[in-house]
Amino acid sequence: MDVQLVPFFIVCLLSTVYSEGSVEFCYNSPGCNATTWPTIAPLYCNGTRQSPINIVTADVKADNNLTAFSFTGFNDSSTFINIQNTGKSVKIHLDDQKMSVSGGGLQNKYKSKEFHIHWGNGSSFSGSEHTVDGKQYAMEMHIVNLRADVSVAAANDSTAYAVLGFFIEATNDSGKPESWKNLTSFLSNIPKKGDLLDIMNQLTVDSLLEGVDRTKYYRYLGSLTTPACNEIVVWTVFKDPVKVSKDLIDLFSNTVHIDTTADPFITNNYRILQALNGRVVTSQPTSSANTTSSASTLHHTLSISTALLYCVFFWCL
Ligand SMILES: [Zn+2]
Repeated sequence: MDVQLVPFFIVCLLSTVYSEGSVEFCYNSPGCNATTWPTIAPLYCNGTRQSPINIVTADVKADNNLTAFSFTGFNDSSTFINIQNTGKSVKIHLDDQKMSVSGGGLQNKYKSKEFHIHWGNGSSFSGSEHTVDGKQYAMEMHIVNLRADVSVAAANDSTAYAVLGFFIEATNDSGKPESWKNLTSFLSNIPKKGDLLDIMNQLTVDSLLEGVDRTKYYRYLGSLTTPACNEIVVWTVFKDPVKVSKDLIDLFSNTVHIDTTADPFITNNYRILQALNGRVVTSQPTSSANTTSSASTLHHTLSISTALLYCVFFWCL
């Protein structure tokens, strides 16, 4: 995750807040890659509730509170403001006056600020941040939402952001789906760091999430995945991946550069996995649990029926 964190006046008196711009970091050079982040941003990057994590499905606990989300503006193409090469990723700025997320076990409404993508190096070298039972997907999309009752995130507000993570899985098609073909067509217009292109009224977020059952997801408390790694994120990682063809995935790692066009392409812009440190990942109760429950109920009913039959049998005697 890649979020601009703005210092809040009062919080500044209490603790130090780093903005992304105040911490020089990178993904691929030995002096500033992810292994150095706990050193260059020690306040949070070596904390105990960091992201991303490997989700071990056998350890996921059921939580009945993880109900369906309510998505506002996700079907509205006027919410897309522009697409930007940040030098670290590709970021799409959204109109947070029109887009929001609530429900889904969140305690508050959250306004949608932007989404960005993490990738590997071509479709052959995966680059999702989270993994599931050790499986890393080709890419991961993060929709970043800020709690509606704050205008800027405080450094230690543990639920300031709700980030929705979507895995991208590579397929052997070509140019599919149409929504991702449209999105990737803009990349050639933003080759350099800082490049910006208006893309209003051409895409919706819904269209980019085609095929994902948004009622099935993992939930845990974590952090920003870029320095200063503040532990201020309620994470939602959806189980179903978005399916995108390899040729479109390849465009991310061979079109946009980390700075000028003379510099390398942005590749492998994902953070290394972080320790769980006792945190619990939750999800909706599974259907197998319901099946077990139904089977148990059936068994119980049969047992009572059998007992009644015995009673009738012996009463007849
Ligand atoms: Zn991210």
